[in-house]
Amino acid sequence: MYNFESQHVVVTGGTRGIGAGITESFLKAGATVIATYAGNDEAAHVFKEKHSLYGEKLILKKFNVANTSDVENFFSEYEKSFPSLEILVNNAGIRKDNIIASMSENEWDGVIDTNLKGTYNMTRFAVLAMMKNRYGRIINMSSVGGKLGLPGQANYAASKAGQIALSLSVSKEVAKRNITINNICPGFIETELLKDLPEDQIKEYKSQVPMKRFGKVEEVAHAVLFFATKEASYITGTTLDIAGGLNA
Ligand code: NAP
Repeated sequence: MYNFESQHVVVTGGTRGIGAGITESFLKAGATVIATYAGNDEAAHVFKEKHSLYGEKLILKKFNVANTSDVENFFSEYEKSFPSLEILVNNAGIRKDNIIASMSENEWDGVIDTNLKGTYNMTRFAVLAMMKNRYGRIINMSSVGGKLGLPGQANYAASKAGQIALSLSVSKEVAKRNITINNICPGFIETELLKDLPEDQIKEYKSQVPMKRFGKVEEVAHAVLFFATKEASYITGTTLDIAGGLNA
């Protein structure tokens, strides 16, 4: 359906969960994908093996998106290895839920650093690379949680709302350079991010979704590829819910 032949895509957190689905979809559409991850080498290895038919079109890089010098090193290596950067997907994200009165500084900082500072770090360097070619597509994986504010997720909701605010601002800065930046807000999607939820809470969440089921990674990936097309050239600073009707 889509053709990204000769385009280069960086997908953070691109070896597991939603990110893995996004990487797969871009590979199928002919792109070269640099899928990044934080530390789960085993999952990354299994993912690379599973997609060995794509050869050099799938490159894995391990670093922490929250660490500015890691990100700087990644982009300086990137420039030496690839001629251009067309697409960045800021997908890496974590949860550390707790009610506010019990939320530790570590839980607050950890989530804000990965989800929001990571998006800032990656976007900042990607924009510099994209401005050279006066073209770019940036897609942030936010969450309906950033608009609904589920209990126990003050850190997560703030980080996800922050991504939306960041995009609104950046979209206005880079619009003249043909760089777009948009957000996707998934609802509940079947990945390991939700694996710690108790069975009764999963049931309760499913009952709140009008479609009465959790979403699949492919259903999110499809929208990412749409935002990443050349044809989506007049869409920027916007946010799309993919949440089975659980829209904020
Ligand atoms: P996941 O299955 O837990 O995968 C997270 C990915 O992010 C992994 O590849 C992980 O690397 C990477 N990552 C985590 N921290 C990182 C860091 N500091 N630096 C670099 N990479 C890091 O999560 P998911 O469910 O696919 O979620 C992906 C995104 O969608 C997140 O931003 C999440 O907030 C958002 N989202 C998910 C849902 C949902 O229901 N699943 C709903 C709304 C929004 P390792 O493999 O090395 O650990």
